[in-house]
Amino acid sequence: MNFAKSGVRLPPLPSIGDLLRLYRLRALKRLSQNFLLDSRVCDKIVKVAGPLEGGHVCEVGPGPGSITRSIIRKSPAKLLLVEKDPRFTPTLEMLQEASPFPVQLVQGDIMNFDMADVFDKDHVRPWSDRPPNVHLIGNLPFSVATPLIIRWIYAISERTSAWKYGRVKMTLTFQAEVAERVVSPIMTRSRCRLSVMCQNWCHVEYRFTIPGSVFVPKPDVDVGVVHFVPRLVPIIDLPFKIVEKVVRSLFCYRQKYILKSVGTLFPVALREKLALRCLEEAEVPTTARSFQLTLPEIGRICYAYTSILRDYPKLETYNHRLRSDVTLEDDPLIEREPPESED
Ligand code: SAM
Repeated sequence: MNFAKSGVRLPPLPSIGDLLRLYRLRALKRLSQNFLLDSRVCDKIVKVAGPLEGGHVCEVGPGPGSITRSIIRKSPAKLLLVEKDPRFTPTLEMLQEASPFPVQLVQGDIMNFDMADVFDKDHVRPWSDRPPNVHLIGNLPFSVATPLIIRWIYAISERTSAWKYGRVKMTLTFQAEVAERVVSPIMTRSRCRLSVMCQNWCHVEYRFTIPGSVFVPKPDVDVGVVHFVPRLVPIIDLPFKIVEKVVRSLFCYRQKYILKSVGTLFPVALREKLALRCLEEAEVPTTARSFQLTLPEIGRICYAYTSILRDYPKLETYNHRLRSDVTLEDDPLIEREPPESED
């Protein structure tokens, strides 16, 4: 094996296109599979993650392994692959054999995969330190990427799973329109709950767009690559579930005055009184609209809401849609413009 200065050189391998043909690996609609066959695009995605040398990388959804090859060429010390579709095991085992460093293959669902103990303990860095040399990289189906990032933001807020190792960075692809929402600043059309939740716990950067035409089969949309670095301290330093509940209410009537949206946190009998109290305590004008609010303003609303909960503890479980059974899993925050419905 040749360790060139610029990284690892893999032995000659069949092209990804040849492997797809050889193993008759047709993209499954059910798993929203779209493959990248262009190694330059894969290299560009992996470059976003930064230097990987000596590090520990987890790639989610490697599929036939095109991004995996780019990762291997950047000579991490270890690579973990989490792939749901067992049909890719032979192509990934081929890379396992070709790699000069250990590649672990887990056939399973990333949504249920706890990364708390999968990396070497010597990578652990205090949260206050620079991010550890541990990296999460993935070109996942659109239907998985959004619920996954919300799950991971929750794990970041609790410092569980991969974030037991410190401020582990992520490089992920999304449908371009969703990637734009993730990084969307205030006063923009695409500002939404996803923007607030991601930006509260992470520094987010939209790095580049991959045209849909590069994928096989070609999806109807372009793809955006986003880099996430967990913040040292979240802007709103409150439990995820409180922030999520308030932010959900704020964006439920996007175009209406915030007084109406905040009111949804409270039952009808107390609605006007407590919504006014909440915004007064937060020093946010009742006529603002959700997409105009900065994170510190949203934070003040969250704090005012928690102070109201101290006086009215039973309101904590109040849900104006009477969907108190809604869980994180049910609610991937992928809604488009929410309907401007009345209660
Ligand atoms: N990384 C490959 C590439 O860029 O060519 C494949 C990308 S394809 C869009 C998404 C991959 O994620 C597929 O291989 C699919 O089987 C896998 N996948 C889908 N859902 C998954 C899940 N919940 N956990 C792990 N892998 C998943």
